[in-house]
Amino acid sequence: MSVVRCITKLPVCRIEGTVVHGFKRGSTLLDCPTANICTDHIQDAIKGFKKGVYYGWASLHGTVYKMVANIGVNPSFGNEHISVEVHLLHEFSQDFYDENLKVLILGSIRTESKFSSLDELKTAIHEDCGIAEKLLDDQEYSSYKSDSFFMG
Ligand code: ADP
Ligand code: MG
Repeated sequence: MSVVRCITKLPVCRIEGTVVHGFKRGSTLLDCPTANICTDHIQDAIKGFKKGVYYGWASLHGTVYKMVANIGVNPSFGNEHISVEVHLLHEFSQDFYDENLKVLILGSIRTESKFSSLDELKTAIHEDCGIAEKLLDDQEYSSYKSDSFFMG
């Protein structure tokens, strides 16, 4: 199955929440850990999103990183509830569960789809990360790295 991508700039969305535990598939199966955010307080903000993959910036401990986020139900695994999962484009030496993560979404990369193999899903995620890495260097997106949302 080939992945259909449509890079679309969106109205800026700022959400934040505590990093909670998920099913650990990101780090164990996909070579891509995703910080799952507690969605209890951001239901209104996330219901406007189509299930899919998004790009933007995220701040942890006062440092802002490029990020790729999945908002959806992980159809390749069939979750029951919508999750917001953020992969920061940075290598961390430690986990950061229970920390606060601020996430600023700038656009979408593709809708969420069910992959027939883990390898296809891994390849798609890897490509999503490469796309976000490049896109966010564009001035129209890089300026948000110093958004006031991330200050203080
Ligand atoms: P879970 O299912 O609990 O979310 P994952 O396998 O997706 O587990 O791993 C996510 C955890 O890995 C995050 O909560 C965070 O503590 C840690 N982590 C380490 N590096 C990263 C990274 N670059 N992006 C996101 N989370 C990371
Ligand atoms: Mg995760």
